[in-house]
Amino acid sequence: MISYDEALARIYQCCYPMAKKKLGLEDANGHVLASDVAALVDFPPFDQSAVDGFGISLAGVDSAVKEQENSFAVVRTVFAGDAPGAPVEKGQAVKLMTGAPVPEGVDTVVMKEVCTERQGKVVISKALQPGANIRRRAEEFCAGDKTLAAGTRITPPVVGLLATLGHASLEVFAKPVVSVVLTGNELVAPGTELGAGQIYDSNSYTLAAALSGMGIEQYRVLRIKDNREVIKQKLAAALDESDVLLTVGGISVGDRDVIKGVLAELGVQEVFWKVAIKPGKPLYFGTYNNEALKAPAGNDSSLVFGLPGNPVAALLGFNQFVKPALQRMMGESNGSSLTVPAVLTTGMRKKPGREQWARGVLHPVEGQLRVSPVQGQQSHMLGGLAQANCLIVLPAEQSDFKEGENVRVKLLQWEW
Ligand code: AMP
Ligand code: MG
Repeated sequence: MISYDEALARIYQCCYPMAKKKLGLEDANGHVLASDVAALVDFPPFDQSAVDGFGISLAGVDSAVKEQENSFAVVRTVFAGDAPGAPVEKGQAVKLMTGAPVPEGVDTVVMKEVCTERQGKVVISKALQPGANIRRRAEEFCAGDKTLAAGTRITPPVVGLLATLGHASLEVFAKPVVSVVLTGNELVAPGTELGAGQIYDSNSYTLAAALSGMGIEQYRVLRIKDNREVIKQKLAAALDESDVLLTVGGISVGDRDVIKGVLAELGVQEVFWKVAIKPGKPLYFGTYNNEALKAPAGNDSSLVFGLPGNPVAALLGFNQFVKPALQRMMGESNGSSLTVPAVLTTGMRKKPGREQWARGVLHPVEGQLRVSPVQGQQSHMLGGLAQANCLIVLPAEQSDFKEGENVRVKLLQWEW
């Protein structure tokens, strides 16, 4: 059985970037930049006041006087959005609002709070510092500077930066179309009465939530019975329509676990089946040569993930395998998951052989990160995962973990 790292590496080898497309800035959040972005303008575009206050010409004010109380004639007020107007002369001050352009001749701006205005004059009882409270033209970016690299994920601050630099539209990677096909005679939708042997289908909801949480907009969820013919027909259709197909359930060794066989009949090439992890060992991954795909020339295969049906295995399978693949397809090169060291608050045991992802709660205590496993560690128990904020990554070959031992902890983020 291959390790998690090996499985992920094999998945990455099969991930192609989606086609590039142009998008308006207002629709760009959550996408990834497909090309580098340069500033169209300087930022700030002009010298501007950083405060509400008074801009002063220090010309002729000798250094001794700069330390004392000074009085200047206020010649006018400049608001944000005004033109700066005529140069300010020796002995003069101009009243400036935050963001107002600083007129020529002004070499310091003094905060309103330390000034007294009376009879057309401003009296300042504070040492004057040349250059204070002036945001200089181009101090952050010069027009033409490369400010954002292709592969940057567009978040609210990135959207703001793009606007600041003058971009109304951008080149981004398209997002994949995903199909989720769930099988199981026992599954019914919540809201109906449970019959004998039935359970509520939770995976439809967790996976839809996880997909939309990471910004996938086009996905379909289909729940079907364990009927080989129907499964084959629905998977064939889903394969042709999707960049990524997720099957859920029916991938293990039970008598009705037909997914793997059906995928093979439909021409899906298995890359691996079974990974040395817990939960989620029977996870399957394959590729399908898909003529209809929108991917850039040279790569037209869709990805197929067979997730086990147990709800914790299905959702962690999504988090650990599907999500990084979707992120790659959407253009992100770094991945978003964060792993940190933490101290175990209680001893743990497991069998050697598989890497285990125990569900945990990470909490800071006196400047130290501690992690405690939650109640409900079995793969049908969503209660544990619902409380957890991290996965405690227990290495495959180790079986004993002592209280106070350092472990690796992977933060659970249900957004990107
Ligand atoms: P399977 O992978 O089909 O063998 O299913 C493994 C376990 O997960 C069984 O107990 C199933 O009843 C359960 N299961 C499968 N699909 C779902 C689902 N969509 N929602 C909740 N439980 C499921
Ligand atoms: Mg089943």
